[in-house]
Amino acid sequence: MSEHAFPTRIAYAEALAIVRHVAAGRRLPNEPVPLSRAHGRVLAEALVAGVAMPPFDNAAMDGFAVRHADLAGEGSTVLMLRGSQFAGGVPAPAVGPGECVRITTGAPLPRGADTVVMKEDTLVEDEVVRILQAPAAGGHVRRQGEDVRAGDALLAAGAVLSPPRIALAASQGRATLAVSRRPTVAVFSTGDELVEPGATLAHGQVYNSNRELLMGLLRAQGLEPVAWPTLPDDPPAIESALRHAAEAFDVILTCGGVSAGEKDHLPALLQRRGHVHFWKVRMRPGMPVLFAEGGSLGPALFLCLPGNPVSVLATCLALARPLLDGLQGREPRTHWRARLSAPWHKRHERLEFLRGRLSSGEDGVLHAEPHPADGSHRMRGAADSDALLVLDEGARDYPAGSVVEAWPY
Ligand code: AMP
Ligand code: MG
Repeated sequence: MSEHAFPTRIAYAEALAIVRHVAAGRRLPNEPVPLSRAHGRVLAEALVAGVAMPPFDNAAMDGFAVRHADLAGEGSTVLMLRGSQFAGGVPAPAVGPGECVRITTGAPLPRGADTVVMKEDTLVEDEVVRILQAPAAGGHVRRQGEDVRAGDALLAAGAVLSPPRIALAASQGRATLAVSRRPTVAVFSTGDELVEPGATLAHGQVYNSNRELLMGLLRAQGLEPVAWPTLPDDPPAIESALRHAAEAFDVILTCGGVSAGEKDHLPALLQRRGHVHFWKVRMRPGMPVLFAEGGSLGPALFLCLPGNPVSVLATCLALARPLLDGLQGREPRTHWRARLSAPWHKRHERLEFLRGRLSSGEDGVLHAEPHPADGSHRMRGAADSDALLVLDEGARDYPAGSVVEAWPY
């Protein structure tokens, strides 16, 4: 197929499988973090319940703890008020026949009581409480262990720690959780034509827009990427900077300089110094993407994205994100699907990432409006959109209503 010792022009599915395999072999170590630092991180242990939740029978409403048998008669019942049981308060006396205890939400049910009558269904007259409306037996009582029993598996390793998951761990008394260390990522832009936003453009120059694109996409994954100064199209300068970074970071993400032009130096460098896993994937945009081990450059993994901004968006979501997820052992992401609201014709067989705008219809179905601005340099279309729409390899004609995968960004 080629003169290369590595796969080239492979299908996206194959590239993804390679990325996942390499990432699984390089799972990052775990680290304990306090709950306040655990938001968005990937859990690296199974969370097993040590205590039941609720830990004791308690009131679901503010009202009066009663014995249901006392409410059996016709009409309203009158009970003697024996005391109060507040949440976190001192224990109230037991509730005997014909008696009740004032109780607040979350307070433990006093001995003898089995039911709570809500305050709104009572009339309090001095030491006497008139029950106007009797609940069912056991009404308004939250039973010990009805949500969680000791020994229950609550969260699996790989779970992304959403606020409710962290709250669940907190409810179990956990102050710290073991999470995967976050991959450190160095972000490089390459190209003699690039200048930083804010500077003045000379003829033939363009602003570096990929850096912020990548930094934003990575931060949205909960990472803290570090951006390097832009590299010139100069092999010794590129090699020296990448060597430094490859010693200190888990992942090197570059953009630009990875196709076949005279100024595209990364493929030669990584073939000479590193070990290339693949170069070129049958997808559009993003075809020239290269994935390699740093080899003699350093222990980092290299994912070299093409320079065109829409290619950066597509390859970052298609390959960088699975790589960074895999290094942390993250649970699979949700596959969103949407119906195309306009037909699309592909001019080729390759997998294609369209840009599109998602909306939720009256029918409860997710719709995707493909953006007509085709071309990997057309950032405006990506900015007008909010998702990549994945058109699989092979098929060419997508009538309106076709179901496609959508990757919101
Ligand atoms: P390359 O892959 O280096 O040939 O770059 C392909 C195209 O993307 C060229 O038009 C570059 O000027 C453009 N490009 C490369 N890097 C960036 C960047 N960081 N920001 C904006 N455009 C870029
Ligand atoms: Mg370039």
